[in-house]
Amino acid sequence: METVETIAGARARRCTDRAAGRRVALVPTMGYLHEGHLALVRRARELGDAVWVSIFVNPTQFGPNEDFERYPRDLKRDAALLEAEGVDVLFAPTVEEMYPREPVVKVSFPGLDNVLCGASRPGHFAGVGLVVAKLFNIVEPHVAVFGQKDAQQALLIRRLAADLSFPVEIEVTPTVREPDGLAMSSRNTYLSPTERAAAPVLYRALLAAAGAIAAGERDPAAVEALLRATVGAEPLAGLEYAVCVDAETLGRPERIGRPVLLALAVRFGATRLIDNLPVTPPEEG
Ligand code: AMP
Repeated sequence: METVETIAGARARRCTDRAAGRRVALVPTMGYLHEGHLALVRRARELGDAVWVSIFVNPTQFGPNEDFERYPRDLKRDAALLEAEGVDVLFAPTVEEMYPREPVVKVSFPGLDNVLCGASRPGHFAGVGLVVAKLFNIVEPHVAVFGQKDAQQALLIRRLAADLSFPVEIEVTPTVREPDGLAMSSRNTYLSPTERAAAPVLYRALLAAAGAIAAGERDPAAVEALLRATVGAEPLAGLEYAVCVDAETLGRPERIGRPVLLALAVRFGATRLIDNLPVTPPEEG
């Protein structure tokens, strides 16, 4: 595995891959890798012949009172995991390399970036959009792999690639979970043992809501009430949002007649966890 830390180094390696006719698959991450990330890497291996992983804790997607400073980092361990997966290139730039000065370009997704996570994290998706656009321009991947775990992010990146005509395919892979259902996340390391024991309530709530839709519930308000009630029964869980929204527009449908996204954000102490489940209602009639 080659590790590159500069944009010039990444472009040079990219030229080598292009000259060799390799199909480049990129997995953007913020590091502190877990099995969820590695599932993306394995999917990238299926989709390309040169697998690139980027590790960059992107300051522009963190709010002033968020966890940028304390976000877990362990580049040595991450590099060993990626090496074992047969990754070809690790791109791990510094903040100064990516942002030598304050960027003036803003990426916004009006109507899609002020709902769900965007409502409580103003500027977050603008930061994500900016860094992903930069990564696409630096690495020029044929395909980029993202996780369903961050459903709103995956949707916005699909729009970013389509609207700005990036010549990249966007692949989204299912959420990888712990045996008790908790979605894997680098932020799970913040949880105390009691919080960790309570955290599977997110997935339980999503499954209960999906079960209600499978049993015929078509009222999004009733589905949201079920999500809220399930999370509310867990004393350590502080609900931020619980929604049943259209999977494409993220707007609340009047009735569940098309694929929806069930999505949750829940706080355990200072730790904010998210999870979601896409649900297609069974055909009626
Ligand atoms: P992060 O390092 O948290 O920015 O995540 C990097 C990529 O890994 C994103 O596309 C995430 O959606 C994806 N990811 C994170 N956790 C999981 C998981 N549990 N299952 C699948 N993908 C994940």
